[in-house]
Amino acid sequence: MNTTLDWINLSAGTLLFAEGDAGSCAYLVSRGQIQIFLARDAGDVVLGLAGPGEIVGEMAILADCRRSASARAAEDCELILIKSEQIAYRIADADPILQMLLKIVIARHRETLGRLNDRAEQMNPAHALAAGGFEAELGMLTLESELRHALQNDEFELFFQPIVRLPSRRLAGFEALLRWRHRTRGLVPPGEFIPVAEACGLIVEITNWCLARIGAVFPAIMTAALQNISEVDPLSLSVNVTGYDLSRPSFAGTVTAMLQASGIDPASLKLEVTESSLMKEPARAVATLDTLRGLGVGVAIDDFGTGYSSLSYLTSLPITTIKIDQTFVRSMTQQKASRKIIQMILRLAEELEIPVVAEGIERAEEEQILADLGCAFGQGYHFGKPLPLDLTLALTRQWRASGQKSNRHAMAASPMGRP
Ligand code: C2E
Ligand code: CA
Ligand code: CA
Repeated sequence: MNTTLDWINLSAGTLLFAEGDAGSCAYLVSRGQIQIFLARDAGDVVLGLAGPGEIVGEMAILADCRRSASARAAEDCELILIKSEQIAYRIADADPILQMLLKIVIARHRETLGRLNDRAEQMNPAHALAAGGFEAELGMLTLESELRHALQNDEFELFFQPIVRLPSRRLAGFEALLRWRHRTRGLVPPGEFIPVAEACGLIVEITNWCLARIGAVFPAIMTAALQNISEVDPLSLSVNVTGYDLSRPSFAGTVTAMLQASGIDPASLKLEVTESSLMKEPARAVATLDTLRGLGVGVAIDDFGTGYSSLSYLTSLPITTIKIDQTFVRSMTQQKASRKIIQMILRLAEELEIPVVAEGIERAEEEQILADLGCAFGQGYHFGKPLPLDLTLALTRQWRASGQKSNRHAMAASPMGRP
């Protein structure tokens, strides 16, 4: 096999290949960025960017079909040519499992392209941007490639929102909430990208990133708490995980390894799962949660009351906390029904001896009612908004329980960014 490398230099704007061309080689980007796009009458539809270390144009030779999209140099680029013989040689040489996986990837890629092309052809391109389906699909592809870029370029950040004991307002812990510092869009809230990350499987890497980050920063939060002479209770840190995470056989091992490497007490970590995420693959989710609970890790049911309202899982799952969804708290003062639901949840939780956190407390009146009803914990802008690590450490060092006025940062900060 000839292993000499062929290099190509492209100046910005030069077309590398066009949709429909026969593909006889792929390209490894070594410098610059290649833009992948669909050339349409109404304008180019950008599918994504490939940067150093990424390969473009491989599908045409892997799947032996024509180029499915066009590619051009977004800036001056240096590429390494990968010839079809090299790929064929590698595939022939590959482990049978890897060969099978490659075939699956190729088949799925063809299926997606087929769907995209069908829709592009059915539609008048001038209407394409207004039509939800096609645009949504392309939007998802673009967001997916941006999310990959974000993971590689460290664009994610964890914010922390305080959870307090009621009625004392002693600090009980924090919930870690993910933020994406996008190059042009600023701070992007998780609601805008977590669903896409779940749909394309990137959530696994994102959750792993969150866990690693928690391993790195939680000891510092604990140290800050120890510096606060008026707060002696150990703090807990909650992290949101999805059904996809829980269904992975390696998930429990990833959490365990993080706890061991960081020295965090398993009892300080809480996994927040929603009712709906548990319904995806219940048997696997239960097995994973049982394993982690066996180590001492806590399990919180998030957004309680909004899901499938099947209460049976409350006894079959190793649940240590129930989080009442903020919609009930929000409407509690106006709607009697919401208040009744909250009372019912609190009674049920008391029977099962599971502590409750009320989410989304924004006003003193809500805090008062919930404390009177016997709710043990509260979370919401009234106590503190989600904050970046540096402000969280400052807040933890100076947190004061009820009646004292130094939780200044928490009150002032915006939910997405700095004050
Ligand atoms: P969630 O787990 O229910 O988190 C609570 C959300 O309510 C957060 O929004 C928080 O900023 C917001 N919040 C807290 N207190 C108040 C309040 O008093 N008033 C109002 N209006 N909102 C309040 P955020 O950070 O935008 O997160 C939205 C959702 O995204 C989360 O809902 C969670 O489902 C998901 N999410 C956040 N971080 C992660 C993550 O690291 N991994 C995963 N898988 N999902 C995450
Ligand atoms: Ca949560
Ligand atoms: Ca919630």
